[in-house]
Amino acid sequence: MSATEVCEIFLADENDTLKLGERFAQLISPPLIIWLEGDLGAGKTTFTRGFLNALGYNGAVKSPTYNIVETYPFKGFNLHHFDLYRFQNPEEWLDAGLDELITADSIILIEWPQLGGDLAPPADIILNITINGSGRTVQINAVTTNGTKTLNKITE
Ligand code: ADP
Ligand code: MG
Repeated sequence: MSATEVCEIFLADENDTLKLGERFAQLISPPLIIWLEGDLGAGKTTFTRGFLNALGYNGAVKSPTYNIVETYPFKGFNLHHFDLYRFQNPEEWLDAGLDELITADSIILIEWPQLGGDLAPPADIILNITINGSGRTVQINAVTTNGTKTLNKITE
């Protein structure tokens, strides 16, 4: 069977988006960088909430729009949830010293990665969520070998 590098999934409601996040969380291992693309209200933060819930975090998950990054410590790794929505220019990535957080034992989720330009760390996996009627369509692209391995587990 050939490796999955791209797939498209319909998410009928919020619960489907949470479940997809959960599924990722159950199958990943650090390091992994996931870009979350899609308009405001697409479901990027909802996906992140499902992901964090599956790792055992049950507190509030909000888009870290004002402080750019929210860090969640887990046993053996940190999960950094970025939101670059307020970036006026990609240099802000460097100004905020965010590169320091991109380590071999981190899971990175980035909302609005395109606002980081070339300075945002390159993705292993890109999720692009679009509104589709009352639900959402997510296109998942695996960009690296690590990403492809993860996506294969997701689609098994
Ligand atoms: P973003 O972070 O992309 O701006 P949020 O996750 O904060 O978006 O908000 C997405 C909104 O859409 C929430 O109100 C959520 O309940 C809803 N939502 C998430 N996934 C779906 C889905 N698959 N179908 C319909 N509504 C969804
Ligand atoms: Mg958000």
